[in-house]
Amino acid sequence: MADKGMKDKIDVIVIGAGPAGYVGAIRCAQLGLNTVCIDDWRNDAGKPALGGTCLNVGCIPSKALLESSALYERSRGEFAQHGLKIPQVELDLGAMMARKRKIVETLNQGVSGLLKANGVSLICGRGRLLANHHVEVLGDDGEVTQTLEAENVILATGSRSTDLSVAPRDGKYIVDSTGALSFDAVPKRLGVIGAGVIGLELGSVWRRLGSEVTLIEAQEEFLFMADRQIAKEGLRYFTKQGLDIRLGARVVGSRVEGEEVVLHYQDADGKDHEMRFDRLIVAVGREPNSGEVLGVDAGVSLGARGMVIVDDTCRTNIPGVYAVGDLVRGPMLAHKGSEEGVMVAEVIAGHHGQVDYGAIPSVMYTDPEIAWVGRNEEELKGLGIDYNVGSFAFAANGRALAHGDTRGMIKVLADAKTDRVLGVHMIGPDCSELIAQAVLVMQYQGSSEDIALTMFAHPSLSESLHEAALDVAGVAIHKVGRKRR
Ligand code: FAD
Ligand code: NAD
Repeated sequence: MADKGMKDKIDVIVIGAGPAGYVGAIRCAQLGLNTVCIDDWRNDAGKPALGGTCLNVGCIPSKALLESSALYERSRGEFAQHGLKIPQVELDLGAMMARKRKIVETLNQGVSGLLKANGVSLICGRGRLLANHHVEVLGDDGEVTQTLEAENVILATGSRSTDLSVAPRDGKYIVDSTGALSFDAVPKRLGVIGAGVIGLELGSVWRRLGSEVTLIEAQEEFLFMADRQIAKEGLRYFTKQGLDIRLGARVVGSRVEGEEVVLHYQDADGKDHEMRFDRLIVAVGREPNSGEVLGVDAGVSLGARGMVIVDDTCRTNIPGVYAVGDLVRGPMLAHKGSEEGVMVAEVIAGHHGQVDYGAIPSVMYTDPEIAWVGRNEEELKGLGIDYNVGSFAFAANGRALAHGDTRGMIKVLADAKTDRVLGVHMIGPDCSELIAQAVLVMQYQGSSEDIALTMFAHPSLSESLHEAALDVAGVAIHKVGRKRR
């Protein structure tokens, strides 16, 4: 598949075509650099499938199933409140999965088309970095098919699920997120180890489709990385929906017995528990794919858990070798990786490249959705930064009422001296979209007053951000009991 420009000098070799790698490769090509991208992903049919974890077994298929399962749940309950009576809604899991696959395939082709249109040469195979910017390509049989050399190499090989020795995957009863995106039937009893973002998203999918879901979480605090107030509200809603979330639980062992998984865990008081599930998902985080891509003489320094060590512009210790995305420090998020890919391309082309690591949005596609950007109250307190808080509940928002979903709130945190927005935290309807407004404000180093002085369409959920910003100064219009200044 690779040919164009291969005889010419290669400016950049990108290893990995996930959102970090393929976006970086496209920007390199846009900037006039002769670019080769090597990727080894194959789909179930054994065909190359570009887009990495995100597109094949991550962001996209999980959101497809979240959407379908949410519709299923709404059609069986909430639709009646709108005066829509549907006698019987039947679940066709096969069709749901086929829809998911179609979306993935459409996007695989889209990425492939984009690389082609931009003149990026694609090689399907496994890349391995050697010394002096040499990269060898290995075929499916592990044999070296060619060796290339480039001025620059961008490592973008992503991450894989972390295994748990006390619950080893067997691909059928005990699976990781990839297995959980393709169950062929709705498990009656579903266990999930880890109540993080994957556990909550995929746990939500299967609960909506009919599973009894239990999440076993080691931490005693729910969503320890989120704002406490938001996490507390989230726990309340998720528990009310029927997710059985067990915090402070230490898994000590598991075994497959007949058609079920027997799981043992100890609670926070050290008491032993046994649970039986039809399927068990292990979702305890991910770790970087740095092992195979680095040949013995590559010389690239690795840090904790195999992360490639990089500076602020994603340079490794080897000049001309960069690493981006899940392979390096920072949150393992597709958009963070893509921006790093763009930054590195700009740097290689001799331009200014930068990622604002303080303005990376985090979103959990639960129901309600949770989203944030910047620092939370606990972090600001820890840093000794004085701040003002403004908040607004969706319960007082007309659009949320029309939506039929008034759960949640938006909270704006602004510097007490300068009023600069330091963080925005939200839980509620469409927060995955609303958070972009807060990211823009933070990107432009805006203040809560900047948001307050902006006009928002009525009626819209976004008005809640406006009111939360007004509330920082104690002048929210649609809020009673507001602060006096
Ligand atoms: P990857 O997407 O992992 O891509 C790496 C690519 O490199 C792969 O194609 C891999 O096959 C290839 N590769 C690896 N080694 C080699 C080699 N030696 N040679 C050639 N090719 C190689 N993030 C979000 O922002 N939003 C979400 O909603 C979201 N949902 C997720 C849901 C799930 C279930 C999972 C598992 C993850 C989710 N993520 C989400 C995280 C997101 O998928 C990752 O952050 C993102 O894919 C990382 O991009 P990347 O390009 O660094 O790596
Ligand atoms: P995570 O870090 O979000 O959650 C893992 C959870 O497992 C944590 O709460 C942790 O305390 C718990 N845990 C760890 N070891 C445990 C053990 N032995 N027993 C019980 N609990 C244990 O990781 P994840 O949910 O696996 O997701 C992996 C990555 O994928 C995340 O970094 C995330 O950024 C990304 N992702 C993002 C999205 C999104 O943006 N919407 C969706 C899915 C995945």
